[in-house]
Amino acid sequence: MQDSRVKQNEKRKRITLTSKEISELLAEVIITIVLLLLLNVAIMVILSAVIENSPNLEGAVWGTKNVFMEQLNSDIFYSGRNFIFPVFAIIDAIIVYWRLIRRYRQMQMRHVISELHYIANGNYDHRIPFELKGDLSKVILSINALVDSTAAAIEDEREIEKSKDELITNVSHDIRTPLTSIIGYLGLIEDQQYHSEEDLKKYAHIAYTKAKQMKYLVDDLFEYTRVRQPSVPVNYTSFDMIQLIEQLAVDFELEADKKGIAINVISNTEHLMMDGDTDKLVRVFNNLLTNALKYGKGANQVVIEALEQPNEVVITVKNNGTPIPKESLNQLFDRFYRVDESRSQEISGTGLGLAISQNIVGLHGGYIYAQSNDKWTSFIIHLPKKQQGQKLKNPKTRN
Ligand code: ATP
Ligand code: MG
Repeated sequence: MQDSRVKQNEKRKRITLTSKEISELLAEVIITIVLLLLLNVAIMVILSAVIENSPNLEGAVWGTKNVFMEQLNSDIFYSGRNFIFPVFAIIDAIIVYWRLIRRYRQMQMRHVISELHYIANGNYDHRIPFELKGDLSKVILSINALVDSTAAAIEDEREIEKSKDELITNVSHDIRTPLTSIIGYLGLIEDQQYHSEEDLKKYAHIAYTKAKQMKYLVDDLFEYTRVRQPSVPVNYTSFDMIQLIEQLAVDFELEADKKGIAINVISNTEHLMMDGDTDKLVRVFNNLLTNALKYGKGANQVVIEALEQPNEVVITVKNNGTPIPKESLNQLFDRFYRVDESRSQEISGTGLGLAISQNIVGLHGGYIYAQSNDKWTSFIIHLPKKQQGQKLKNPKTRN
């Protein structure tokens, strides 16, 4: 934004008048000078008449025409000219200058208006490039700023549209795949194309598994769109983060045991009171722990680490499995992204878990990122300890 401002300033130029406008200005100067000369002469004639025939002003005006030529040579005229000429010349020059500037300003305004029309015709990448002085310059700056924000809003709108289209494409694809299997296997059952009860059970089982896969996707999708709503309610309570992660470690112990993985909780404090929506945060940790167990190939340790800092809490969920390739790290939080599609295909998942987690952490005013090296694959969450200006609800009891 600032860069584009600088560029705009660099490109700023003076308004160049067209030859028609220059002729208009010249005509204005000539007409003004002629009118002023006539006016000057008339004033001088009246003045001399007033002084000579004074106090009869009516007579002086009446005789202006006749007196005009004679009075040019009058004594008064000549005696006063040393004083009157410069005064008249100065006043005339001011009037000519004033009219010229007025006309020039009108022309500048015309140029600005035609630029505005050009922008209004849909050329939102254009800015009014004129360098002017005074109020008009402020008007131009404001118009350019307005066009900047309108262009940004249009771009955002386009991005949202694009991302909605992508979402629909992804969802249709991800729903169609299991749906094709379900229809295929149920079709076999319907047409009695099975040879034994074993086959029947097998087909029914596959259809059931695929239907469950679809339900996960729809649930995830629902959750994803829900947490993306700016108006999604966040029910803040004051809770002990250490207690919460210890409970989660217990919840996942059995599943981890089956895979020969040990879950440990590490912390620099015994209790860590903070504000947050525990239901939503549990959703985040559930996904991180499920991911660590699902994708941490060859891991034998999962660690949940909580660090209390002056204003924030840093929670890390890490496993010592095969590292995530560097080029994938930045995309992990994109919806539907799954590392190494072929391998992930064997493990069910929709690729929405981390996108949902990122949104939930963002709703709390925090951020999440991933790091991966030969030793640890870590997901690190920074959350503010206190939610300023948020009403806290009574904590729910988890069991
Ligand atoms: P969902 O969570 O929606 O059921 P998912 O687990 O595939 O599906 P995410 O949680 O968003 O989706 O994870 C995205 C991808 O990131 C995963 O498919 C996996 O390839 C990779 N990933 C996530 N966590 C880890 C991890 N701890 N180790 C290795 N890869 C991981
Ligand atoms: Mg996941």
